[in-house]
Amino acid sequence: MVDHGAVWRRLESVLGPKGFSRDPDRVSPKLSEWRDRWRGQTPFLALPSTTEEAARTVQICVEAGLPMTPQGGNTGLVGGQIPQGEVLISTERLSAIREVNLADDVLVAEAGATLAAVQDASAAVGRRFPLDLASAGSATIGGLVSTNAGGTAVLRYGTMRHLVLGLEAVLPNGEIWRGLRRLRKDNTGYDLKQLLIGAEGTLGLVTAASLKLTPSLASRAVAMVGVASPQAAVNLLTLTRDIVGEDLEAFELIGRLGIALAVRRRGAPEPLRDCPPWYVLIEVATARTAAAPLMIETLLTEAFDRGLVSDAVIAASESQAKALWALREGQSEAQKGEGPVWKHDVATPVSRIAEFVETASEALQARYPGVQIDAFGHVGDGNIHFDVLPPIGGDWNAHLAAREEASRIVYDLVVAIEGSISAEHGLGVLKSDAARAYKDPSEVHALEAVRRALDPRRLMNPRVLF
Ligand SMILES: Cc1cc2nc3c(=O)[nH]c(=O)nc-3n(C[C@H](O)[C@H](O)[C@H](O)COP(=O)(O)OP(=O)(O)OC[C@H]3O[C@@H](n4cnc5c(N)ncnc54)[C@H](O)[C@@H]3O)c2cc1C
Repeated sequence: MVDHGAVWRRLESVLGPKGFSRDPDRVSPKLSEWRDRWRGQTPFLALPSTTEEAARTVQICVEAGLPMTPQGGNTGLVGGQIPQGEVLISTERLSAIREVNLADDVLVAEAGATLAAVQDASAAVGRRFPLDLASAGSATIGGLVSTNAGGTAVLRYGTMRHLVLGLEAVLPNGEIWRGLRRLRKDNTGYDLKQLLIGAEGTLGLVTAASLKLTPSLASRAVAMVGVASPQAAVNLLTLTRDIVGEDLEAFELIGRLGIALAVRRRGAPEPLRDCPPWYVLIEVATARTAAAPLMIETLLTEAFDRGLVSDAVIAASESQAKALWALREGQSEAQKGEGPVWKHDVATPVSRIAEFVETASEALQARYPGVQIDAFGHVGDGNIHFDVLPPIGGDWNAHLAAREEASRIVYDLVVAIEGSISAEHGLGVLKSDAARAYKDPSEVHALEAVRRALDPRRLMNPRVLF
C-alpha cells in the first residue's frame, strides 16, 4: 500500500513552497484545455524549477509506483497533457533561456520557455527560430519537442525533429540525461534525442533543448490566389518551387467554405472577387533585401500564363499580409458555432493530396448526405486538416454520434494511399488506439519494446502511445 501522504510530504520538501500545489484555483486551469474537450484530475501538481528538482520528483514517484503526466503550455489538442489521476508535472517554472551562441547558431532553452519567448530571444540577436504556429504564445519548447510540432514553415525548415540539436531530460528511471549537444554531425549510433522527440512524455520529461537558429530574412511577400482544385494547388506548388526555390516559406490551401466562415467571423472583406472554390496562401521570404515582391510577381505572372490561377491578390503592406494570414490561422476559430466538427489532421504524399480530398469528400457525402467539408492545410507537407461540419440545419447530436465511424472511413482512405492518421499534435488519448491499429504490427512491437525497456512499469504518461 502506498502511503500517499508520505509521498506528498517528500515531494513538498524537495520542491519547496512554490514548487507544488493542491489548491484547486491553482490546479484547475491545468486540468482542462482551451476547447474544454478534455477534463482531468490529479492528486498533486509538481512545479519543479530546476532539472534536479524534476529528477527528484520523478524518482520519488517511481519509488512509490505513481504514474506521472508531463504538461507544458497545455495547448495540445489530443488530451495527452491532461492527467486522469496521475501526478501532474508542469514545466511552468523551468522557463529560462540558458544560452544563445552565434558561433554555433544555437539557442538553449528550458522546457517551459514558450515558443514566442524563444522567437523573441532569437530575433534579439539577429537570428530566427523558424518554427511557428498559432499557439506560439503558450506552447512550450518541451511540448513542441514532445509532439514533434510542425507549423506553417515545415516545407522549408522541417519539424522539431529537424530543429533540435540536443536535449536534456529526466528519463523514466529518474536519471538525468545531459544530452544538450549542439553538433550538426554526430554519427554515434542510436539517437536518444530522436526517440524523445514525439514521445509525448512517455520516455521521460524533457527539461531543456538546444535549438538550431537560422538567418533572419530581409524581405517577404504574401499573396492569396484562387485555384480550381487541390490538384491545381499541387501543380502550382511545383511551379512555385521551380521559380522561388528555397525561398518558399509557406504554401497553404484553404477551401471556399473555410474562407467564407473566416470572412464572416472576422467581418473581413472577401480576399478574391471571383470567390474561387479553393485558395492558396503563398509566402516567399528571402535574405536578399527587397527581393521577395519581385519573386512573387514573377511567379504569379507565370501561373496566370499557364492557367493555374484564376485570381490573385498580393499584400501591399505588412498589415495586409497579416490580414491574409489571419484568414488561414483563424480556420479552427471560424468553425465555432457551426456545430460539432469531425476533425482529421492527416498527411498524404503531396502527389496524392487531391486524390485524398476527392475520395474522402465523396465517401463521407455519400454516407452522410449534406455534411460540409472544410479542408485546409499545409500543401507543401502533404498535411490536410480534413474537417467535417454537420449539414446546414442538420441534427448536431446525430453528427456527433457518427464521429467515430466517419473517422474510420477517413483513416482507411488515408492509410490506403500511404498517408498518416496524424500529421500534427501527436496521438494523445484521442488517436493512440487508432495508430496502434493502423501501424504495421512489427513496428508496434518494436516501439512497445523500447518503451518497456525505458519504463517497465509504464509510469510516464501511461494512457498515450503504444
Ligand atoms: C491554436 C492552436 C494552433 C496549433 N497549431 C499547431 C500547428 O500548426 N502544428 C502543430 O504541430 N501543433 C499545433 N498545435 C498544437 C500544440 O500547440 C502543440 O501540440 C504544442 O507542441 C504543444 O505544446 P505545449 O507546451 O502546449 O504542450 P502540452 O499541450 O502541455 O503537452 C503536449 C504533449 O507533450 C507532453 N509534454 C509537454 N511538455 C513536456 C515535457 N517537458 N517533457 C515531456 N513531455 C512533455 C505532454 O505530456 C503531452 O503529451 C496548435 C494548438 C493550438 C491551440
